[in-house]
Amino acid sequence: MGTPSLLDDSHPDINETNTPSEASTPYLCGTCRFPVTWESKGVLCENCSVWYHICCQNIHSDDYSHLDSSSVVWYCLSCNTQNYTQVAFSCAANATNHNPYSTLDTSEDSADHSIDSLDERALPKYMSSPNPKSRPLHRPKWKPIRLINVNCQSIPSKIGAWKNLIDCTEPDIVVATETWLKPDIHNAELEMDEYAVYRRDRRNNIGGGVLIAVHKSINSTETNIETDDAELLWVKVVLKNQPDLLIAACYRPIVSDKTTIPALQRTIDSMNNKNMIISGDFNYPGFDWSKRELKAGCPYPSLHEEFQTFLEENSLTQLTTEPTRHENTLDLTLTNIPERINRSKVMPGISDHHVTYTELDMKIHRRQQAPPYSMVVQTCKLGGIPP
Ligand SMILES: [Zn+2]
Ligand SMILES: [Zn+2]
Repeated sequence: MGTPSLLDDSHPDINETNTPSEASTPYLCGTCRFPVTWESKGVLCENCSVWYHICCQNIHSDDYSHLDSSSVVWYCLSCNTQNYTQVAFSCAANATNHNPYSTLDTSEDSADHSIDSLDERALPKYMSSPNPKSRPLHRPKWKPIRLINVNCQSIPSKIGAWKNLIDCTEPDIVVATETWLKPDIHNAELEMDEYAVYRRDRRNNIGGGVLIAVHKSINSTETNIETDDAELLWVKVVLKNQPDLLIAACYRPIVSDKTTIPALQRTIDSMNNKNMIISGDFNYPGFDWSKRELKAGCPYPSLHEEFQTFLEENSLTQLTTEPTRHENTLDLTLTNIPERINRSKVMPGISDHHVTYTELDMKIHRRQQAPPYSMVVQTCKLGGIPP
């Protein structure tokens, strides 16, 4: 099989509903070594970042939804640490993370969301006879904002994977590109009852489309920012005692596209100095974001340089440094508040793109939610059959 070229990433409106394969994903299950996709639920070891199918961890799918509120622990085969949460990138793990983007002293804020369970993360890495241990009793006083950026290449054809991804990551905000939704597809069919869903379906053509979904516990509203000539969507999230957070979904369909970034610039110009997160599929295969430079053989270098200028002129930091499709980093998250970013990670996706996960250290006004589950389920242990 040949190595995908940079130009392979110009893939507007392909009719195949690509799904992750062993060749395209680095996310192989730590037990069975088959790809962890969202066709079934998965769990992430917070210690060594190895993924597992829940069935390979003897976690029954009926127990899964209660895992985060129960005494269930599971053991990572790779590093032998215990994990007690099903949600990828849980906020408990976050407590030990240093903000790599921070340029400000955030010590005051850090104290505000201190997690009483820090000692839980300081467990020995290896235990000769690990004992099941209850999850921490104390929960964070408030949760950071969790955002995932998903290139879908058709939500309707992947509704099961879409739902598993949402269930396993519990995002506050979902930004989706290439939704391939049409007006006759109702939001109810997207299995997102807990979210306010904002869409911009592609008109008069196949493919494309962007979507933003915001959890209903958070105040959000669609903006009336006009973007007729690009696949852009802006949603406003209302925060407590802070300026509103503006979220954009952006799909730049091909590497040679010349209209999306100018359109994005016009929308930014129409706003007054707001906190912004712009996520999506930008189709700039020529950037090596880990080195912050253009790759050799970069296609359309002038368009790449134009994008760099766009970032600089708007004081935007691009957060994704790992590849998101083959060896290229196409799915980006831009922000003008990098000091509020806890972390930005890449994880399995539902198309041939990986998903990016971004966590914001911001207080959010959440509406009252149903009380958490109180039930306790049995302890599962790798290799054993639950009693
Ligand atoms: Zn497996
Ligand atoms: Zn591990």
